[in-house]
Amino acid sequence: MAANTPDVDTFTRPYWDAAADGRLLLRRCRAAGCGRTHHYPREFCPHCWSEDGEWAEASGSARLYTWSVVHRNDLPPFGERVPYVAAVVDLPEGPRMMTEVVDCPERDLSVGMELRVTFRAEEDVTVPVFRPAGA
Ligand SMILES: [Zn+2]
Repeated sequence: MAANTPDVDTFTRPYWDAAADGRLLLRRCRAAGCGRTHHYPREFCPHCWSEDGEWAEASGSARLYTWSVVHRNDLPPFGERVPYVAAVVDLPEGPRMMTEVVDCPERDLSVGMELRVTFRAEEDVTVPVFRPAGA
């Protein structure tokens, strides 16, 4: 596995398998009185610490919360990819997610803009990124 790409372990394997299949999975808590969804996937719920969670498929929609255009990153594989848009997006399921926005000129980025998940195959894994909805 290349440096700086996500770790895939037994717990997160379904997440990466789904991404390779074009589906974004989130972890949803099954504890009574909680039921909240979180991301990135953890083996316990960060809201109530329950370990009773399940995978749930995300709608794939998101809204842009904030971003920063990265012009320089010497860590592979990012060096070949600059500039890119490192972003935080809000998912309708609740979680806020660190990701990248693709296929969108910097001048067209705006807070709250509607995004749609898409997937980018990398060396070892497929990662979810977002592009403008309707693009
Ligand atoms: Zn919970």
